[in-house]
Amino acid sequence: MNSGNGGSKPAARSPRFPLPLGKMGGASASSSASSGVGGGVAREVLMPQRHLREAAQDAARQLAPSGLGLDSAKVRQRMVLRLRRDGLHDERVLEALSRVPRHEFVDSALAIQAYEDTSLPIGHEQTISKPSVVGRMIAMLFGGQSASQRGHLGRTLEIGTGCGYQAAVLALLSQSLVSIERLKPLHDKARSNLAPLHLPQVRLIYGDGRLGAPGAAPFDSIVAAAGGDDIPSAWLEQLAPGGRLIAPMAAPGGRGQVLVRVDHLLENGRSRFVRTEHEAVLFVPLKSGVM
Ligand code: SAH
Repeated sequence: MNSGNGGSKPAARSPRFPLPLGKMGGASASSSASSGVGGGVAREVLMPQRHLREAAQDAARQLAPSGLGLDSAKVRQRMVLRLRRDGLHDERVLEALSRVPRHEFVDSALAIQAYEDTSLPIGHEQTISKPSVVGRMIAMLFGGQSASQRGHLGRTLEIGTGCGYQAAVLALLSQSLVSIERLKPLHDKARSNLAPLHLPQVRLIYGDGRLGAPGAAPFDSIVAAAGGDDIPSAWLEQLAPGGRLIAPMAAPGGRGQVLVRVDHLLENGRSRFVRTEHEAVLFVPLKSGVM
């Protein structure tokens, strides 16, 4: 039903965090440009600097049989610089994004696009979210009462494991992570994608995430990667006092989806749930049951 993953060591800068990922995966490439048709030498001469660099990268890629001849850590660092420039300022989240080899979570034919800010298909009509959206949601979780006090996400629940990419990022920032997936082939894929990263704090569950994980509750942070018409009551029941939930949800009047944030506040011993709606988003549907 579920699986843990491997061993870890604490991060130097954030000793309370579970870990930095060790040496992982191969290398990657940053550009999806190809040199195209015709042109020969004359075309090369006319190429501006940037295109020359891309052509060199293409050549490097062809030399590396895996197609991933470049240094993936550097490419990820560039992705992080772009995310920071575009408004993601939480250094903890940026650091976690810089550690997880996104190209290892997608089909090898798509690996070349792994560090662009784009969603990518992961099979079974599902997609891996854009890095900026993953970063934004996790940064929002950090604003919750208990996460901001502790400096980490605490006990985290993810609904929609998919290929396991976001689970890896969350795991680096959480005390423990339970991630639920309703599609067995994706649950299995996430398990094998996560295995080399050795994240013992991760527990993967094959099941209907609408029910949460009552046996592992309560959670300080809950995040959903699929959007429904409502926030399932189980998620609110399993959100600890001081905890925060972030989920996409149908916007009123059938106008797409928005990110919804729910804070569980404890005031004079009484629970209060405060819900706010944020920017428009586009996530795959939250479905019931398993397949
Ligand atoms: N975070 C994932 C993104 C996966 S896409 C990643 O990094 O890859 C959203 C996932 O939610 C899909 O895999 C879909 O099957 C799953 N999903 C949809 N409804 C669900 C439910 N009720 N319970 C668990 N998973 C669900």
